[in-house]
Amino acid sequence: MDKRDFDAVVVGAGPNGLAAAITLQQSGLRVLVLEAAASVGGGLRTAALTLPGFKHDTCSAIHPLAVSSPFFSTLPLEQFGLEYIFPPIAAAHPFDDGAAALLSPSLEQTAHWLGEDEQAYLQLLRPLVRNWPSIAADVLGPLHFPANPIAMAQFGLKALPSAMALSNRFRTKAAKGLWAGMAAHALQPLTNATTSAIALVLMITGHLRGWPVPKGGSQSIADALSAFFISMGGVIETNVYVQSLDQLPSSHAVLLDVTPRQLLQIAGHRFTSIYKWQLERYRYGMGVFKIDWALDAPIPFTASGCREAGTLHIGNTMEEIALAEQLTGDGLHADKPFVILGQQSLFDHTRSPEGRHTGWAYCHVPNGSTQDMTERIEKQVERFAPGFRERILARHTMNTAELEAYNNNYVGGDINGGTIDIGQLFTRPALRASPYRTSAKGIYICSSSTPPGGGVHGMCGYHAAKRALKDIFGR
Ligand SMILES: Cc1cc2nc3c(=O)[nH]c(=O)nc-3n(C[C@H](O)[C@H](O)[C@H](O)COP(=O)(O)OP(=O)(O)OC[C@H]3O[C@@H](n4cnc5c(N)ncnc54)[C@H](O)[C@@H]3O)c2cc1C
Repeated sequence: MDKRDFDAVVVGAGPNGLAAAITLQQSGLRVLVLEAAASVGGGLRTAALTLPGFKHDTCSAIHPLAVSSPFFSTLPLEQFGLEYIFPPIAAAHPFDDGAAALLSPSLEQTAHWLGEDEQAYLQLLRPLVRNWPSIAADVLGPLHFPANPIAMAQFGLKALPSAMALSNRFRTKAAKGLWAGMAAHALQPLTNATTSAIALVLMITGHLRGWPVPKGGSQSIADALSAFFISMGGVIETNVYVQSLDQLPSSHAVLLDVTPRQLLQIAGHRFTSIYKWQLERYRYGMGVFKIDWALDAPIPFTASGCREAGTLHIGNTMEEIALAEQLTGDGLHADKPFVILGQQSLFDHTRSPEGRHTGWAYCHVPNGSTQDMTERIEKQVERFAPGFRERILARHTMNTAELEAYNNNYVGGDINGGTIDIGQLFTRPALRASPYRTSAKGIYICSSSTPPGGGVHGMCGYHAAKRALKDIFGR
């Protein structure tokens, strides 16, 4: 390990660790990043998981949050090789009758396709889409007095109810299904308060910026972030698993891109007993079962709109999706799980050999599940794309234990760094004036276990670094 003195050390090179490191380096500090794996990226990695020539996103694949991140948007990432590709349809939601609800970049077009629910959709989304630029930084940050309180209150009133409660605005199967598929990204039963929040954020960002895939795979976001960091003089070391603070070179601040469980292992001896008590009670949520396919042709979805979409929400009606999420929340495995599916190679031809395709999908499972969900996921896809199974050349799967072994931030397969329910929305990872500051001076947590939570946006890292800059470096 580099033995020079640094101003700050960042442990973990996921999107949040890299965002923190860039923010600190941009302020003129000397920053070292230590990453346990052989490459940077955390949830941003791409690998040949099935057959040679097929590039699969090991974790994240769809990037409405990255492309609209208030922090990433300030960085010159295209100069460091990042290119987003925008599928014409952001997300499609097929139904048993062969129809599909579609989220188009156009708000009006999406509403129009919802027929009877056109006005209900416009009334819900139009003011939020209009106000988003003035509230995005507040929504994607810690709890504080917002810059635009009225617009923020309008968002909050719609974001706080459960997805099921808010679905009463809609009458059609199409609008209710589309809404439920968005809300299911919360990884919670749809009857839980605040499950509307993620649905709104995904729909708003879909209408403002689309749901892109990065050319070459999600790894290219991590590669661009790390190349930019290094271009400013930052230092990254990979293959360094940090088990204790004593391992680190001396510095004034340490920012950890880890969840509370590892934070306790690495730095627990420095914390007050009340802070330790809070971290020990931190709750992790549902896990995911992940599958990647190498295919000999595109997925033959019945509904034509599905063949133009980067992302599919597979789960039929709102009632079916709500049941799947409720069962999973109760610790059971749904027979018809809600499946999130990406078909990146349709739009990014670098992902597979000519004429061949990739498929990326996951479903929700109870935390810690080792159940093989392959059969159930493939049955769900086949239901809306008859003939899909015959297209499979090879597959690669990861249950929750394998995901956690791959990246120990995925505790029990939880991809959000902990449940984001009403109990932990404002207190991630503990109830404190600043959620990023631990009880030990100079030690910060900067992962998705802090506000605003899971997803590739870097805002947790950015805010943690801003906190450290103010506390320790007086900037
Ligand atoms: C299957 C799957 C699908 C997903 N799909 C999407 C999606 O489509 N879109 C989206 O926006 N998000 C998606 N996500 C979620 C997203 O990947 C995460 O929310 C995001 O990566 C969290 O970023 P992070 O920096 O907090 O942590 P991570 O990305 O987990 O990075 C943490 C890094 O720290 C390293 N580390 C941990 N402990 C140590 C240690 N002790 N010493 C040194 N290094 C350490 C890890 O190796 C890792 O590289 C998905 C996640 C998964 C698993």
